Amino acid sequence: MPEHDAPPEAPTRWLFTGQLGSLFDDGGRILLIEAKSLISGRPIHRAKAHLLLSAMRHRARELGDRCEYHRVDSYDEALAARTEAGFDNADLEVIDPTSYAARRFVRNVGCRILVSRGFVTDESVFREWADARKPGTRILLEDFYRTVRERTGLLMEGDQPVGGQWNYDHDNRAAPPKNAVTLGLPDPWWPTEDGIDDEVRSDLDRWQAEGSVTLVGADGPRRFAVTEAEATLALDDFVESRLGDFGPFEDATLTGDWTMAHSLLSAPLNLGLLDPRAVVERVAAEHANGNAPLASVEGFVRQVAGWRDYVWHLYWYLGEGYTAGNNALEAHEPLPEAFTTLTPDAIEANCLHHAIDGVREHGWAHHIQRLMVLGNWALQRGYDPKALNDWFVDMFVDGTPWVMPANVVGMSQHADGGIVATKPYASGGAYINRMTDYCGGCRFSPKKRLGDDACPFTAGYWAFLDRNQARLSMNHRMAQPLAGLRGLADREAVVAQERERPPL
Ligand SMILES: Cc1cc2nc3c(=O)[nH]c(=O)nc-3n(C[C@H](O)[C@H](O)[C@H](O)COP(=O)(O)OP(=O)(O)OC[C@H]3O[C@@H](n4cnc5c(N)ncnc54)[C@H](O)[C@@H]3O)c2cc1C
Ligand code: SF4
Repeated sequence: MPEHDAPPEAPTRWLFTGQLGSLFDDGGRILLIEAKSLISGRPIHRAKAHLLLSAMRHRARELGDRCEYHRVDSYDEALAARTEAGFDNADLEVIDPTSYAARRFVRNVGCRILVSRGFVTDESVFREWADARKPGTRILLEDFYRTVRERTGLLMEGDQPVGGQWNYDHDNRAAPPKNAVTLGLPDPWWPTEDGIDDEVRSDLDRWQAEGSVTLVGADGPRRFAVTEAEATLALDDFVESRLGDFGPFEDATLTGDWTMAHSLLSAPLNLGLLDPRAVVERVAAEHANGNAPLASVEGFVRQVAGWRDYVWHLYWYLGEGYTAGNNALEAHEPLPEAFTTLTPDAIEANCLHHAIDGVREHGWAHHIQRLMVLGNWALQRGYDPKALNDWFVDMFVDGTPWVMPANVVGMSQHADGGIVATKPYASGGAYINRMTDYCGGCRFSPKKRLGDDACPFTAGYWAFLDRNQARLSMNHRMAQPLAGLRGLADREAVVAQERERPPL
C-alpha cells in the first residue's frame, strides 16, 4: 500500500484495464489495481499478459502523483489495504466496467457508478432502440449501424449515406493478388519497448517459473500500443499507409503477410486508449478530404461504429447467461491440445497450421483467420462453444469477456440458434482457396472430399451438415446446402472418413 498523507476529499476514480486512456480521466486522483488474478486464473497468452501489465504500468507512470497503484494478488487485497490505511472504499467512483463480474464487484464494494464510456453509442441509447423494435424483430447489425450513421452524421449527406449506399461490402471482398507473397505495404507502426516492458518481461518469467501464472505462446517483441500516444501513432500510420487497401483486402489472406491491411487497433481500442468516436471521425474525414476511397472508409467505420459497438451492446442486452446457456448445435468436443497449448507442428491442414502459428507468435489473427479458419474448424469439429469463447478471450491480445459472446457463441459457432447470424459460418475449402494462398502449400486438395488428400474443411463441411441436418432443417437459408447434402453420392463415406480423422 503506498503511503498517503490523508484520505482525499474528492472521490478517487478506480480505473480498470479497459479504461486506460484520457477518455476515462476527468482529473483528480486515480486508483489502478494491478491484480495478478487478472492473468492467473487460466492459461493466458504471454503477449496478452504482457500487454495488460505494460499498459497499466505505463498509465501509472503517466499519471505520476495522481495515481495510487497497487500490485497485489487480488482486488480484495488492495481494497483491504486501503481500508486499513483509513480510506473508505465506498468513496471510490468507477466508470461502469466492461464485464458482468467487474460490475458485480464494484457494486458490492459500494462504489459510485458512472455510465460506461469507450463506445460510439451509449448503452441506454442502444437499449431504447432495441426495446422499441417490434416483438420478434431480430436485432441486426445492419439496422443498428444505420441508426448510428443517422444519429452521428458519420458519412452522411443530410439524411442520405454518402455515395448513396449504406454498405460497400461487395467492393470489399477481393481475393489476394495472384502470385503475391505480401500486399506490398510498408510495415505497420511497431512500438519500441522500454524499461517498463523489460520489468514486465522479467516479472512474467519469474511468475511462470514459480508456477503462479501459466503462459502460452511466444514471447516476441510487443506489437501493440499500450499508451494513448502509441495508439495515436498506430492510428496515424494506419490512416496514412494502409486505409486505402483496408477495404478491398479486408477478407483476403496471404501466408507471408500476417497483418495484411488491417489496422491492429483492436487491442488499444479495447484498452480504452483511443476514443472510437474520434477514430471513426478521423477515418471518415479521409474520404471527405479525398485521401481514401469510400469503400475502405465505410468498411472501417462499419467495423468500429457498427460491429464493435454492436457486440458490446449485445453482451449486455442478451444477458449473462447467453454464453454458457447456448449450445444450439449440441457441440461438446473439448478443445484439442494444439489449440490450448498453441502448438501447430502436427497440424497438417496448412490454413489451420498458419492460423494457430500466428496466434502462437502474436496473440492475434485477422478477422478471416478467426472466423473462416479457426471458428470454421471448431464449428465443423463440434468444439464446445463456451470453451472456445474462453480460449479466444485468453489467447488473443484484444480478447475481452464482452467482445466474445456475439462473435464466438453467436456469429462463429451458431450456438445461439441464429440470434446474431442467420446461418452458420461453415464453409468448405473452396472459400479458403479463393480468399487465401494457403491451399497451394497444403498436402490436401480443397476440391477433394474423399481420399487421403481430401481437404478436412471440404469434407468437414459435409460432415457438419450431416450431423446437424435436423437442427438446421427449419432454417430457410440452409435449404440449399441441405439439398446439396441429400444429393451427395458419397455422403456416407465422407461422414465416415471425417469421423475417423484423428483429432489435432
Ligand atoms: C471468432 C472471432 C473472435 C474475435 N475476437 C475478437 C477479440 O477478441 N477482440 C476484438 O476486439 N475483436 C475480435 N473479433 C473481431 C475482429 O476479428 C477483430 O476486432 C479484428 O480482427 C482485430 O484486428 P484489427 O484491429 O486489425 O481489425 P481491423 O480489421 O482493422 O478492423 C478495425 C476495428 O474494427 C473493430 N471490429 C471489427 N470487427 C469486429 C467485431 N466482429 N467485433 C468487435 N470489433 C470488431 C475492431 O475494433 C478492429 O480494431 C473477433 C471476431 C471473430 C469472428
Ligand atoms: S486444402 Fe483445405 S486444409 Fe489445406 S489449406 Fe486449403 S482449405 Fe486448408
